[in-house]
Amino acid sequence: MRTAIIEKRPRASDPSPNLTAAEAASFRYDRAARDFQGLPDGKGLNIAFEAIDRHAAGPLAETDALRWLGLHGEEEVYTYRMLRAWSNRFANVLKGLGVTPGERVFALMPRLPELYIATFGILKARCVFSPLFSAFGPEPIQARMALGQGTVLLTTPRLYKTKVAAIRKRLPDLQHVILVGRGHQSAEIPGTLDFASLVNEASDDYEIGPTPPETMALLHFTSGTTGTPKGAVHVHDAALHHYVTGKYALDLHPRDIFWCTADPGWVTGTTYGIISPFLNGVTSVVDVAEFDADRWYRILHDEQVSVWYTAPTAIRMLMKAGAEKAREYTFPHLRFIASVGEPLNPEAVHWGTAHLGLPIHDNWWQTETGGIMIANTAAMDVKPGSMGKPLPAIEAAVVRREGGRIVPIEEPEVEGELAIRTGWPSMFRDYLNQPERYAACFADGWYLSGDLAKRDADGYFWFVGRGDDVIKSAGHLIGPFEVESVLIEHPAVAEAAVIGLPDEVAGERVKAFVALNPGIVIDDDLRKSLRGHARKRLGAAVAPRDIDILAQLPKTRSGKIMRRLLKARELGLPEGDTSTLEAES
Ligand code: ATP
Ligand code: MG
Repeated sequence: MRTAIIEKRPRASDPSPNLTAAEAASFRYDRAARDFQGLPDGKGLNIAFEAIDRHAAGPLAETDALRWLGLHGEEEVYTYRMLRAWSNRFANVLKGLGVTPGERVFALMPRLPELYIATFGILKARCVFSPLFSAFGPEPIQARMALGQGTVLLTTPRLYKTKVAAIRKRLPDLQHVILVGRGHQSAEIPGTLDFASLVNEASDDYEIGPTPPETMALLHFTSGTTGTPKGAVHVHDAALHHYVTGKYALDLHPRDIFWCTADPGWVTGTTYGIISPFLNGVTSVVDVAEFDADRWYRILHDEQVSVWYTAPTAIRMLMKAGAEKAREYTFPHLRFIASVGEPLNPEAVHWGTAHLGLPIHDNWWQTETGGIMIANTAAMDVKPGSMGKPLPAIEAAVVRREGGRIVPIEEPEVEGELAIRTGWPSMFRDYLNQPERYAACFADGWYLSGDLAKRDADGYFWFVGRGDDVIKSAGHLIGPFEVESVLIEHPAVAEAAVIGLPDEVAGERVKAFVALNPGIVIDDDLRKSLRGHARKRLGAAVAPRDIDILAQLPKTRSGKIMRRLLKARELGLPEGDTSTLEAES
């Protein structure tokens, strides 16, 4: 499994991949920054100016920036010039309401064009944008807005009535609620303002005030996979990293048709669903709907998507929907596919090659890193199951903690904690109101990610597991990812999660949970076949002793398997923070 390589074989019609060896060798952020304009008169660096206004005043002004797909075939298109005007209007709305720079503006919104317009208006006003997932219930909304002291909330009349109205009394900082009604009578709800009326009355001229690069821009809550979500603070300087990673890790070229399937409630949906595409001058496709295999294949085909950024859970759902479905469509325009959020099983990478015509390029990063750190780029061969190599100017290492010191492990194939040398522009600047927790992430000039990894002799990094998830059994260190990847190679298995349970003899024993492909009959033969497959591939010491079959695995709303929940349930312990748990049916 670990030696396979998929060699880079571009089609003649493809543009040459970004990040040639020469580009990689000479990369420096200050050189990349020359592609930016900076605010007039040296007033600093503003994400919205570089993403929108710079293009609106240049050759891409009339290029489609945002192509929005509604539920029933509606489509709305905004050029860079139009986005400049609309975001200026929203910045003027905030100013008119007396909202001042630094104030936190939350969005609890479906993927509607107004969300994208508002984000850039918020950044122009030098307020802080904090997205919430629209499927959150009242409690997670209240907790995050209270922590962030949000003064403005952008939402819809429906979400307001069902989730916010009842908690409004518990949000003393909240001054203004702006409703995106899209023609429905939002103005009728007392204590709220109507987005459409406000922007229609606002001027489309706006001058962005001074924005030193360290100005706070984004407040992002982590996925809550391992515990209570943390509020990671990011600054305008992050734009530089958002730009170069879009270019190098996702291979974005101006005018590409790009589709990022992540919801902006999560960092991927903001960095690569809102900011990075526009910094790179592409046409960004935004679909309001949730996952549906036919719809997704149709979008890839009909919209002529050239670069697609998605997640392992989505790929596994497409796999579950079956190869026949994929065969109904062709994807002649698709040039590059990338995935993030969870380890991407080798099986999924190969499935991409077989059914979408391209391997899927895994990359690794976190809410805290603000952008991609390690990637299989378009310019390199893909090693299925590997996260790839560090991007230019990113120094990543597998390290060991020795007292207060951090020691990089030089030998290949040795497991340790994945660490990044501090100083890249999109590094988080704080965990809001948790300075000790923030400080604990750093030592000796390194940021410690909490994930375990290995590096191979070619410099590729391999994910082993989250620090908390790694299993120690009879002297072996077992990474759940490796066991899960083997389990999903079994033809009956769609998804797998592996945990360690206390064991008197071995210290810990491996337990697996699987969800099956449709139409599989659950009987003793199946159970025997699953156990046999695991034992044959992994050996008796590593293979799970028990394999439970579940209808579905518990996941965060960003699609991450919540192993800690499976473990808590197994041990009869409290489930802890489940605010980001996707509804289990
Ligand atoms: P919390 O920190 O609240 O527990 P979280 O870590 O899941 O939540 P995110 O910042 O959204 O929140 O996710 C980052 C984590 O996702 C990484 O630390 C890693 O464990 C996992 N991850 C992301 N990309 C990959 C990848 N390509 N391969 C393996 N794991 C990945
Ligand atoms: Mg985390």
